[in-house]
Amino acid sequence: MKFIPKRPVILALLAVAGLAATASAFAYALPGPASCAAVGLAGFDTLADGSLVQTGSSAERRQQAMALRKQAQDRIARVYRAPRAQAVVLFLDDPAAFWPRPRNATGSTDFLPGRSCVVIGPQGRNVDVLAHELMHAELADRVGFLTRLRAIPVWFDEGVAMQVDYRAQFAESFDGGDSRFVRELDTGAEFFAFEGGRHTRHYAAAKREVADWLGSDGPRSLYPRLQRLRDGAALDAQAPQAAGRTE
Ligand SMILES: [Zn+2]
Repeated sequence: MKFIPKRPVILALLAVAGLAATASAFAYALPGPASCAAVGLAGFDTLADGSLVQTGSSAERRQQAMALRKQAQDRIARVYRAPRAQAVVLFLDDPAAFWPRPRNATGSTDFLPGRSCVVIGPQGRNVDVLAHELMHAELADRVGFLTRLRAIPVWFDEGVAMQVDYRAQFAESFDGGDSRFVRELDTGAEFFAFEGGRHTRHYAAAKREVADWLGSDGPRSLYPRLQRLRDGAALDAQAPQAAGRTE
């Protein structure tokens, strides 16, 4: 799950600029991770692998956080090849303590130019959620901040993340069904329809659509194809197998 700025892009950029200004005091004190300016960093400690945990987090939870990050990166490497994004990763014991806005208790990712910020809540401490969120950061790194805003639909971003997310509730096969409806969900508000549980089907459909988009080339074709998107190619121009599907 994540935050998706709505169009027009300029409004999103203005919002980011506002958050960046708000967080400038943190950036002065902690110049590295504070470049992900939407997060408040007071009360966090940095682990050996660069992850952030809340001050007061136990030694056991610190070790678990680093082990999970390693497992998630290994999973991404097995599916897509090694990730390169240098995301800020925060592990929260108490999502209510997170500034400036409360987070969901599972996971989310925020995006700034050149930096993504993955926030893992107490209910998201598993390899599925972390690999999922790290792939949002990886996609943003590969296509670039502005291309992501302009050219990456929600279903695609989520579907890419879902290829490394094996949670059972999103494993719907759609055998004999149609998952293309998810391409019509243009906004985060439509996709992340948590009321009534519709989001579960949206994630499952996005997983299927991106698996189809990857097609016979497979997941290891993702990174070069994201580079082509960054260079200006259209998303569907890379997906002849999707266009050729029957109604
Ligand atoms: Zn997601």
